[in-house]
Amino acid sequence: MDRVKDTAYRTLDGINREMRAALEACALPHDLVRLGRSARDNPIHAACIGDGDFAKPELLYFSGAHAMEFVGPAMCLGLLQFVAAQAPDSPIARALDRINIWFLPVLNPDGYLRIQRQLGAGPLGLAYGRANANGVDLNRNFPTGFYENRDSLFAGSTVKFSPYYRGKEPCSEPESRVFRDFVLNRNFRISIDFHCFGNFIGYPYGYSDKPCRDKDTFVQIAAEMVARQKGRKYRVMPMHKLYKVSGDTCDWLYDECRILAFTMEIAGLGFNLKDPQSALNPFHWANPRDPERHVQDNLEACLYLIDATLERFGHEADQINGD
Ligand SMILES: [Zn+2]
Repeated sequence: MDRVKDTAYRTLDGINREMRAALEACALPHDLVRLGRSARDNPIHAACIGDGDFAKPELLYFSGAHAMEFVGPAMCLGLLQFVAAQAPDSPIARALDRINIWFLPVLNPDGYLRIQRQLGAGPLGLAYGRANANGVDLNRNFPTGFYENRDSLFAGSTVKFSPYYRGKEPCSEPESRVFRDFVLNRNFRISIDFHCFGNFIGYPYGYSDKPCRDKDTFVQIAAEMVARQKGRKYRVMPMHKLYKVSGDTCDWLYDECRILAFTMEIAGLGFNLKDPQSALNPFHWANPRDPERHVQDNLEACLYLIDATLERFGHEADQINGD
């Protein structure tokens, strides 16, 4: 079964199978890479569309840090399927002369599997949780601002049983280290991390209310994305406007790696009294019932990041090629 019981969401096996199928049918240069393994020894995969030349500026779509946020991996996989299906003479195929495009749908496979099991268990299938197999919130486990904001409820708790537990030290978790090493070994210039929910596009900082140096660039790019959203138009704001966090992945990507790191919080609160199953189940508060509609509504917006990578960084490939 490729779908989780009573939902429109794929199982982890389903995601991996569809990733492989999209790449097998892909007429463009591509690669499927096993980046490393999770705490429970599950592989973490990323796909590259492009020739993988390190010298080219790269774009990263990623998701699935938070166990229960299944709409993120659905978005990331939808983008991969769309890009992989492009013809060799399409504008996206031509963009690959200058850039590579990467997709990492499930950073926390142990968490995804745990939620998938919970959804399939019992008549209600109650499912909730963000953490990896060690109980750590991976999006609080990165070095930037790791020790900040102890007073905020959502920041990155030092309490092991909190859903926001940040871990003992920065990158204490295998998944965080796999991601860190992957990023440090590539040439990413723009990234977007898919989460839910909130109907907004966020940019740094999350750990501080200090303005980030590239605020104007973030806002310009996000405005172009919003203009391409087919459904609801999302708000654009620095991440700390929601609440201050510690150890946020995108703060680290921006501060340490100089990557224009966006976060997209897909959809709104799914709590619906008229639908008893979703009213009772935290999984359905976080995830919309109809992920494919949200994928389609946001597809063009997210594809704009290919143009943005090309426009802002594509010339670097020319310098390397010497033309
Ligand atoms: Zn999240």
